[in-house]
Amino acid sequence: MANFNIDAKKDLTYDAIVVGSGISGGWAAKELCEKGLKTLVLERGPIVEHVVDYPTMNWDPWDMEYRGGLTPEEKKKHYKNIRSGWVGKDTEHFWADDEANPYTEEKPFLWLRGHQMGGKSLLWGKQTYRWSDLDFEANAKDGHGVDWPIRYKDIEPWYTYVEKFAGISGEALGLPQLPDSHFLPPMELNCVEKHVKERIEKNFEGRNMIIGRVAHLTQPHNGRGQCQNRNRCSRGCPYGAYFSSNAVTLPAANATGNLTIRPYSIVQEVIYDDAKGKATGVRIIDAETNEVIDYSSKIIFVNASALSTAHILMKSTSKRFENGLGNDSGELGHNLMDHTYRVGAIGKVDGFEDKYYKGRRPNGIYIPRYVNIDEKSKSDKFVRGFGFQGSGYRGGNPANIESFGADFKDSILKPGDWEFFITGFAECLPYHDNKISLNKDVLDKWGQPTLTIDAEFKENEKALNKQIQEDAVEMLETAGLKDVMGFDKEHPPGYGVHEMGTARMGRDPKTSVLNGFNQVHAAKNVFVTDGACMTSSSCVNPSLTYMALTARAADHAVSELKKFNI
Ligand SMILES: Cc1cc2nc3c(=O)[nH]c(=O)nc-3n(C[C@H](O)[C@H](O)[C@H](O)COP(=O)(O)OP(=O)(O)OC[C@H]3O[C@@H](n4cnc5c(N)ncnc54)[C@H](O)[C@@H]3O)c2cc1C
Ligand code: SF4
Repeated sequence: MANFNIDAKKDLTYDAIVVGSGISGGWAAKELCEKGLKTLVLERGPIVEHVVDYPTMNWDPWDMEYRGGLTPEEKKKHYKNIRSGWVGKDTEHFWADDEANPYTEEKPFLWLRGHQMGGKSLLWGKQTYRWSDLDFEANAKDGHGVDWPIRYKDIEPWYTYVEKFAGISGEALGLPQLPDSHFLPPMELNCVEKHVKERIEKNFEGRNMIIGRVAHLTQPHNGRGQCQNRNRCSRGCPYGAYFSSNAVTLPAANATGNLTIRPYSIVQEVIYDDAKGKATGVRIIDAETNEVIDYSSKIIFVNASALSTAHILMKSTSKRFENGLGNDSGELGHNLMDHTYRVGAIGKVDGFEDKYYKGRRPNGIYIPRYVNIDEKSKSDKFVRGFGFQGSGYRGGNPANIESFGADFKDSILKPGDWEFFITGFAECLPYHDNKISLNKDVLDKWGQPTLTIDAEFKENEKALNKQIQEDAVEMLETAGLKDVMGFDKEHPPGYGVHEMGTARMGRDPKTSVLNGFNQVHAAKNVFVTDGACMTSSSCVNPSLTYMALTARAADHAVSELKKFNI
């Protein structure tokens, strides 16, 4: 590719190696390159260059065969993912091939992956929230999982740092449980959302409804364009108006001249040298040629996404680490978490027939957590909490099939009723028995062991879901909506695409894999800063926290390197 140095053949030794180029890997690459380290990013999929490699970004519905549906071959390729409802003709090329990359579900689990440069940063929903001490102190307070080795004050400057570069739009509220970001101007609520907001805030003390906080630009920022409200983001944005590795961090890393990115490089293991007592590099299989190559470096960031990162570490065995790199505690692969969602309520809103909205705003509303935030809001049914996402919109108008010609066209052009829905996102506890393990009986296309996933939501998540539905119905009915219906789509973990916890951070090497700076306790030149590192799951979307932890860890890594500590 013209704009990236992909020639990793002439040099097998680097200052730093980053495994994966998604949200967290992109940040690791940018930070390490900007701090002067010659950095090799190893990405298992192809190069996706910003704009150049977004083939469907300008497609209209009539440009797609089968009304945007998949062919039988494509359905076969995505036979697991298809359950998500997200994969269509316009984004199919950005989702991993389930046939080439099988996994085994001991219990139902949907593992959604993006195997290309940029990873899932091309596909994500961009909802972006800071965590608070309510989250970082939760395990210590209620005894589930282990204590986080950090608190909000440790990560706060790094939230600001990544937000300033990424560009986050939103409204400040001053809530302790949902700290404000460094914001670009917020997007606007539509008339019905304003109406529902007013009613909810008036009738329910302590509940707020705001426009979602999103990694979209509401004004030009750092050379990138403003969001045009076209909601075709998952195909890649020609304006660079939402945060992705492709549009934001990798170009910044590339601009330093320190970046080499090697596509089609499936990292198999981190190589640990027993004599030196540290990791010395990684081993890859070239996805196209099956060639096996070893690369060396002083530090290694493993950012392959939560499950893949743990998978790589589990396969990284040596005399010192017979059960996987850094697995002295036996916790590697355990404590898998995801958020519950798709539980909530929907209803119709009378009035506002003469109102509409402009464009397709790629965002909705947010109702921050209001339970278990203090003594007054304490629940005796569950620990932790939930927030709501949703939106108000006008439905389609059923065509008057008895008409034809101009009458028919008129009837289908008229907007339908206003509707409004909310769906909760609930925190999942870190259970030791929610886990992944190596499966040597089912091999991938390259003959390598795959993963078996064995995880489920348990009683606490079920109790949270029950409350979500009850509260959602009550809020919408109180807000004056009609035909309000609660729903619970009862999905297993994975659908939230917020997998976390498989190599958790902690204070004690006996019960955790990583320390407070995301270093493997017993191999300090190996860093894990994707979802695998998370010690609990909060109820808000996690990717901003991965970004901040990554920038913080990269800063620490370079400082330790300069002091010859790693
Ligand atoms: C539809 C959807 C909506 C979402 N909405 C939100 C949201 O609103 N807010 C939010 O916070 N999060 C959201 N997420 C989740 C978000 O996308 C992830 O949290 C985030 O992308 C994780 O970043 P990562 O760096 O860990 O992994 P990824 O972004 O998945 O990147 C991992 C990279 O590693 C590469 N890789 C994997 N294995 C290997 C290997 N062995 N060798 C080399 N490379 C490898 C992959 O190809 C990929 O490029 C959403 C996800 C989806 C799919
Ligand atoms: S909605 Fe905004 S961010 Fe999404 S593709 Fe359109 S312009 Fe880009």
